[in-house]
Amino acid sequence: MKLQLETIPVWDGVKEGSECFLCSLMKQAEEDGVRYYLSSAVMTPEVRVETNEKGFCPHHFHLLAEGGKAQSLGLVMDTYYDEDSRILGPYIDKVIESGNARKALKAVSAFISKAEERGSGCLICSRMEDRLMRYCYTVASLWRDDPEFRSALLASKGFCMHHTAELATRSKEALSGDDLAGFLHDIFSLLKTNLARVKQDDWWLTQMYKSENKDSDWRGCEDAHKRAVYKLVGQYHVMDPIRK
Ligand SMILES: [Zn+2]
Ligand SMILES: [Zn+2]
Repeated sequence: MKLQLETIPVWDGVKEGSECFLCSLMKQAEEDGVRYYLSSAVMTPEVRVETNEKGFCPHHFHLLAEGGKAQSLGLVMDTYYDEDSRILGPYIDKVIESGNARKALKAVSAFISKAEERGSGCLICSRMEDRLMRYCYTVASLWRDDPEFRSALLASKGFCMHHTAELATRSKEALSGDDLAGFLHDIFSLLKTNLARVKQDDWWLTQMYKSENKDSDWRGCEDAHKRAVYKLVGQYHVMDPIRK
């Protein structure tokens, strides 16, 4: 698969000095996705067909609800409910009309499977997924083609464990053979070094709560407990993209 290179955001990312620039880029992608589905785009019939049919995962429905755009989201939900009623309405009626517990529970399980099927896939996760594919492709391609990028990457704080794994599984779109082996070696070495650094920072934070260290320097470790969490699990995940 030939993907589009995203050289500028990836170069900006590697220079930003954060614990994982793929987390930062995914944060941006998520914000862009939420903004788009709360914009005037939802007035157009094509976008409403999409939102009615696919909808969003619980996390992104929540961000839309808290996005402060009553009219746009009101319109989206109005026709989403119509579609819900068309698809799930008969399953709800089946439970109401079942008459005994055995039949009712059977109807409840049919309702739950249909609701799960209706709820799977998320338009915002899918947009994030498309970008993540391109960012991973770009990181791997630049690592191979641009020695300056490779040095900057190796000198950076690398990625969270979640995005190291994402990058590793997606890098075969750009690399193969010795290049792929070299890339995987480099990103996992980066992970190992930086997990040790974050662990050391977290340890120093714990020492700062001891009375004998009350006058010691924090050494920039005030937020090490949070970095320790996010270095492992990442901050921004693609959760439920639409499986085509
Ligand atoms: Zn990350
Ligand atoms: Zn989502």
